[in-house]
This record gives sequence, structure tokens and C-alpha cells, in this order.
Amino acid sequence: MANQCAADSCSNEGKSRCAGCKEASYCSKACQVSHFPTHKTTCPALQKYNCFLLHADPQTSASPLNSINEQVEPFHLQHYGTEIEEMKELKSRLGWTSATEMGKFYDHAGAETWYYFVYGQLRGKKEKKAQNEVASRACGRPQYGDVAIIRSGPAGSDTPETFTKNALVKALEFYKTYESSVIFAERERNRMGKTTGLDLSGVTSIDATNWDFSRPIEERMAQSTNGKWRP
Ligand SMILES: [Zn+2]
Ligand SMILES: [Zn+2]
Repeated sequence: MANQCAADSCSNEGKSRCAGCKEASYCSKACQVSHFPTHKTTCPALQKYNCFLLHADPQTSASPLNSINEQVEPFHLQHYGTEIEEMKELKSRLGWTSATEMGKFYDHAGAETWYYFVYGQLRGKKEKKAQNEVASRACGRPQYGDVAIIRSGPAGSDTPETFTKNALVKALEFYKTYESSVIFAERERNRMGKTTGLDLSGVTSIDATNWDFSRPIEERMAQSTNGKWRP
């Protein structure tokens, strides 16, 4: 059934959606009211935003890696869409002295057309910001202080702009067990293979940092995979 009423033991068709999460649907006002005590605990995690903060300092006494849900907080950006505007807003709303790209990580569910993009602050020499353990795991390199996470992708990719806290928490949980750099290399390889039409199987990493874009793609690939890729 497309939309079953979310209330327990009601099998009617859901006609109107919860205004908060726009996910749960109900057949009647009565059902919505009766389901509210249950739904109010899940509704916030189903609401979509274009940005979330991932705190570095534990918000509970549990270790950050075991309380990821508590470290993540919605932070909807008013000026979403360009890096310059986003960084400006992070600085003005959070009092950050700088805002810069700190890393990227792919979603646990296998998306290749977009990734999570992480903003953070540069660490001044004298500053002692706490290490952000969860962000460090996801990005595969040390991160300090609070970070802001949005979705992004290469130009022209189909990136869902808004997402739920649930989705982000699941992705972050994934990197407790999986190595970020391995997943990143794998997804990049798949994506590049699709966009270029090249067979990249066997290539374990592609370093495009020093690519000369005036050279043909085959040449660049051979160079940046240490000869593991051959035309
Ligand atoms: Zn709801
Ligand atoms: Zn109902």
C-alpha cells in the first residue's frame, strides 16, 4: 500500500501527512492524535534539512563513537548552494573564525553521484580544539572541533539537497567499521569508470591532484594510477 495510516493497528489509507516530518501519514485527525506520543520521538529524526552540525564535544557521558545520534544537530542553511555563501553563513551564525572544506565521505547506502561534504574551522596554532572522533573516522583524517555537513557532488551530479538526521547518523555509524579511504577510492573509481567509459577494475586509487586537464583522459589516468590503468 502506498500510504498506510501510521497509527498502530489502523489499515486505512493515510490522507494527510505530519507537517513536521512530511513522512508519517494519517487517515484522520483522531489517528494522528492517538499516535502522537509514539511519533513525537521519531518525528525529529525524519525531518529533512540541508545541513547538520556534528559536535566534537560529547553531548552525553557516553563516548562520541557510541552516541553519534546525540552529536548530530539540524542546522538548516538559509544560503545553501555556493561554497562562498555557505562558509559566510557558518561563520556568522556559529561565530567561526574560518570555514573551510575539511573532508568528504560517501553514504553507506552506495550512492556514487554525491557525497557528504564537511566544513570545519582551521585550527589555529594555539587553539586546543577537541578532536572530533566521529568526523575523523568518516573523513579518514583527524578533524578538530565541531563540523557542518552538507551533501554535495561533482558539477552536474544529482545530489539530494535535504536529508534526515537518521540518514546522516547511519552513514556516520557505517564508518565505525569501514575504512573511509577504501570506500572513497572504490566509489570514485566506479563513478569515474561510468563518466569516462573506461574499465577501471584493478585500479585501487586515482590521484587527480596534479592532473593536467589539457591532456587526454587516458593519459591522465595512466599517470595517476601508476600505470595500473592502461588504455
Ligand atoms: Zn512527523
Ligand atoms: Zn488511521
